[in-house]
Amino acid sequence: MRITVLGKSPAWQDAGGACSGYLVEEDGFVLLLDCGNGVFSKLRHYRDYVDVDAVLISHMHADHFLDLVPYSYALSYAPRQQPVAVAGWPGTDAPARPELYAPMGAGERFRRLVSVWGEEELIERAFRLHEYDGPDELMLGPINVRFCEVPHYTRTFAVEVAGRSGRLTYSADCSPNEQLVDFARETDLLLIEATLPRPERTGMRGHLTPAEAGEHGRRAGAHRLVITHFSDELDSEWARAEADAAYGRPVEMATDGAVYTLPGAGSNGAPA
Ligand SMILES: [Zn+2]
Ligand SMILES: [Zn+2]
Repeated sequence: MRITVLGKSPAWQDAGGACSGYLVEEDGFVLLLDCGNGVFSKLRHYRDYVDVDAVLISHMHADHFLDLVPYSYALSYAPRQQPVAVAGWPGTDAPARPELYAPMGAGERFRRLVSVWGEEELIERAFRLHEYDGPDELMLGPINVRFCEVPHYTRTFAVEVAGRSGRLTYSADCSPNEQLVDFARETDLLLIEATLPRPERTGMRGHLTPAEAGEHGRRAGAHRLVITHFSDELDSEWARAEADAAYGRPVEMATDGAVYTLPGAGSNGAPA
């Protein structure tokens, strides 16, 4: 399994960066895990967007799904996606229409979003939308997907992607919780958010600090821990030290373009 970080920013992009998006590939199957703002452009550096088999959205926050809008425009209006050939382009009889998995109620929210400028069907026309719920288990090509609801400001699912070569657990966004620790037990790689320099001052929790992320990794017994969803305005060396101390051994800090391969002896986060 090959995991490429397309974007690791929180709700606002790093300079030149993108919000949440991870390309997960196994035996030729291409899964895009989250599609936040900036991700579509990054995706195009690595793969042709018509070759993505499935897109999976962890929760309905802008930084995890907003680039479904430009992605849908590409799938709808790119000349090669047109059923009728356009001068200078080959055209095709079967335009790509990737599968899109998103939480229950997503279709209604997509329609409300794009209806602001009068294109209600944009996303559902471009993708084959399936709404999932917590207990669902999906078999996507060679990949098995499971979900675990985690506490956040809107209904949110941590995601497990398991294939022949190993198991990736993605925290999505969450406040400290036990469910994730159980769900990620002994996982090969836990990709976990660490958004905050300190717990939320309002007292209403929705994210993790680097130390909390490290602690979740240690308690889960995760074999590798990759910290993500942090801003370039956060001191990453401080964050790494906090996470290392809580995990009990070195963590890896996600960077855009980093590649992780399972099983473990992979390229170890080197930018591709
Ligand atoms: Zn987020
Ligand atoms: Zn969120």
